[in-house]
Amino acid sequence: MSDDKFDSIVVGAGPAGVSAAITMARAGLNVALLERGEYPGAKNVQGAVLYSKMLQDVMPEFWKDCPLERAIVEENIWILTDTSGIKAGYKSPEYAQSEPANCYTIIRVAFDKWFSKKAEEAGVTLVTGVTVSDLVKKDGRIVGVKTTDGDELLASVVIACDGANSILAQKAGLHHEWRPDEIALGVKEILALPREKIEDRFGLEKNQGSTIEMVGDFTKGMMGYAFLYTNQESLAFGLGCALDDFQKTNAKPYDLLEEFKRHPLIRPLIEGSKSVEYSAHIIPEGAWPSMPPLYTDGLLIAGDAAQMINPSHREGSNMAMKAGQLAGETVVEAKKTGHYDAKTLSLYRKKLDDSFVLKDMYDHKDVEVKVRHNRELMTLYPGLLNKAAHDYFLVDGAPKRDHMRRIVQRFRRERGVVNLVKDAWALRKLVGEFSIG
Ligand SMILES: Cc1cc2nc3c(=O)[nH]c(=O)nc-3n(C[C@H](O)[C@H](O)[C@H](O)COP(=O)(O)OP(=O)(O)OC[C@H]3O[C@@H](n4cnc5c(N)ncnc54)[C@H](O)[C@@H]3O)c2cc1C
Repeated sequence: MSDDKFDSIVVGAGPAGVSAAITMARAGLNVALLERGEYPGAKNVQGAVLYSKMLQDVMPEFWKDCPLERAIVEENIWILTDTSGIKAGYKSPEYAQSEPANCYTIIRVAFDKWFSKKAEEAGVTLVTGVTVSDLVKKDGRIVGVKTTDGDELLASVVIACDGANSILAQKAGLHHEWRPDEIALGVKEILALPREKIEDRFGLEKNQGSTIEMVGDFTKGMMGYAFLYTNQESLAFGLGCALDDFQKTNAKPYDLLEEFKRHPLIRPLIEGSKSVEYSAHIIPEGAWPSMPPLYTDGLLIAGDAAQMINPSHREGSNMAMKAGQLAGETVVEAKKTGHYDAKTLSLYRKKLDDSFVLKDMYDHKDVEVKVRHNRELMTLYPGLLNKAAHDYFLVDGAPKRDHMRRIVQRFRRERGVVNLVKDAWALRKLVGEFSIG
């Protein structure tokens, strides 16, 4: 293996790595894709909602044989107290009227196996069960990788797609080990449930799916959220909170999830289900300020390895696929010149700047910081909003103007007018930054 010299070595067979590898192999490059798992997907955790557009850009007509679970026609956001909830959502069968749908639920193991098989079919040399431990450098330039078995593999350029805790980015000196406030810890359970029960409980037609994202009292003031997604014959149920919050509170992620199962709005949806899988993973949520430099001499970084996550829109896999594709395209261009120095590879940054990836990362650059410094968004507001909804819908013989007065007075008393305006300003970032012109 050590005598081979590849055009490119991609480390990590997740969405970023496979997209990069396929893009380069299709252009005729000699590509190695290294994955530490026994098979692709063995070590990966995702909710998992997969977005069609970015996959289609790499795999046109993917839906013809890709292992998809349900086409999402309904997306919901719930704000919960311990006993009640405000539910907002949007449902449109139009999302799944033609193929591909806007997004699908997937099971990552099945998806990653399928996706990496496509890479092999495109000519990529996939090697599984091999962990990369270091970079090989010559004259200060990265020229390959070292594995834990002591093997050295050489290439004109390395693409680091090794996920949330990127050893390669650290070995290249591009970032430090993440601080606890730059990552979240997510836990997820797969709950088996017959398909008819899922369709009945979630009001879905055959093969249609829905998603629910939740914030509220169940995180006990920690910065975090939960999700409940429908698969064909199972539900994906999970939550994630900032790691430093878990450290401060000593809360156990699995205990939180177990307790949350008893919530009156969750229990009826999951009742009778059987837990068949449990997993945990870190999520790089340091956002724009934590993003490392995206390239250096002989190295590009894509996906979670580069902190490309937009938590307020639950997007990560799509950014990973797009960045992987653009990294691959950059290497294809570099091969034409025979140069793999930082200046040549800076084309990657330009491509990312032009794409949705860095625009979205920039626009949501301080959402986490704003929420972190406005803890009331997590602690006070779920209760205030739920009480407001309660009063709004209550019919108790009092005139409606009294109900409305009570709602407004409560907001003023508990938060104050100035803070309310400030919070509204901070909250707009959760939806998106709007720039005009
Ligand atoms: C609980 C949870 C829920 C999520 N839900 C969603 C969702 O619904 N939708 C969404 O878009 N995103 C979601 N995400 C985020 C999404 O999973 C990631 O953004 C996405 O997987 C990033 O892809 P990637 O290819 O960069 O990294 P990964 O998918 O993590 O792949 C990295 C690969 O590199 C391999 N690797 C790591 N180190 C080495 C090494 N040293 N040598 C060899 N191989 C190595 C790993 O085994 C892995 O296969 C979720 C994340 C979590 C944790």
